[in-house]
Amino acid sequence: MARISLQNVSKSFGGDQGPWAVNKFSLEVEDGELVVFVGPSGCGKSTTLRMIAGLDDTTSGTITIGGRDVTGLPPKDRNVAMVFQNYALYPQKSVYDNMAFGLRVRGEAKQEIDRRVRAAAASLDLESLLHRKPRQLSGGQMQRVALGRALVRDPDVFLLDEPLSNLDAKLRVKMREEIATLHARLGATMIFVTHDQVEAMTLGDRIVIMRDGLIQQAGKPLELYDRPANTFVAGFIGSPEMNLIDGQLSDASGRLEVRSGDLSVGIPEKTFARSGQNVTLGIRPEHLVISNGSPLEMTVNLVEQIGAQTYLMGTLAGHKMRAVLQRRDEIRAGDKLPIAFPSERLHLFDSISGASLR
Ligand code: ATP
Repeated sequence: MARISLQNVSKSFGGDQGPWAVNKFSLEVEDGELVVFVGPSGCGKSTTLRMIAGLDDTTSGTITIGGRDVTGLPPKDRNVAMVFQNYALYPQKSVYDNMAFGLRVRGEAKQEIDRRVRAAAASLDLESLLHRKPRQLSGGQMQRVALGRALVRDPDVFLLDEPLSNLDAKLRVKMREEIATLHARLGATMIFVTHDQVEAMTLGDRIVIMRDGLIQQAGKPLELYDRPANTFVAGFIGSPEMNLIDGQLSDASGRLEVRSGDLSVGIPEKTFARSGQNVTLGIRPEHLVISNGSPLEMTVNLVEQIGAQTYLMGTLAGHKMRAVLQRRDEIRAGDKLPIAFPSERLHLFDSISGASLR
């Protein structure tokens, strides 16, 4: 069993008083779960991972793995394997020796080392490359070797720090699928760090979104997409980004609506907002619909044909607006489109705190 528990884990590189690279981070990662930490550069993802690995010490808080308090233990006593963005392979050693190295240091028997290296090589399609040096490998192959080196150690936990960042877009997708397959096959507990929200959405059983050392929201990918806890999560998850419009809540005309300049959008009653409150209305580009007869008109400024979809950028009642249509469409810059905001698709946030009001 390799459940990971972090309780109020904090890290400051500048002493006990902060500033906090990681601030009271609490999370339970279930045995066999793949959790993705995601967030912008400097939000504390890597530092959290390194504290779990034992590569950075904690300033305060407790980390347990499989029920065992590992907070003060060195990396070698945690039975975790970490895979780094830069692969961290030994350039002079062959693929075989790179994979065998950790086991040799641990004093495993030669036969056992050979068995494990060959098994890992087979599962990662590296068998024909075992004699090569890292410089003779492509980025994707190096990444596989780095994974293989983690795999042979049969760790309780895999910690992956932006392992796909150095790969080109196509290879990233392929390796992402391989990691998902590997996870499904091994049933191992994994934490994967990335700043790429698509990677997070597609890989994670659960996603933890961080900003400035703080967890913004943790949940299943579609929970975060459907019910973002605040404007930061709303803007971070989903591409193109959610449209966010600052306005004021009004019920003057007998129904609740958000008003912003010339724009007024009716919203469902079930919200915690009060009339007069400054709010931010959110709607995803893919949820705007063209609706003949709608009084709201979007002037199209830019059209991008993605293939099956059409991306539009334009202005609506003075607000910049992105829309995605789930089809190819003969729309041109300058066109005016009647747009509706389906009320069940709307998000509402407090303008000051950014917190969701629904
Ligand atoms: P990135 O995606 O850029 O790797 P990250 O989310 O992984 O970012 P961290 O590397 O965890 O972020 O850094 C969190 C904060 O801690 C940042 O403000 C960073 O500058 C700071 N930090 C990280 N390592 C150190 C260090 N060794 N000494 C001092 N400050 C550090």
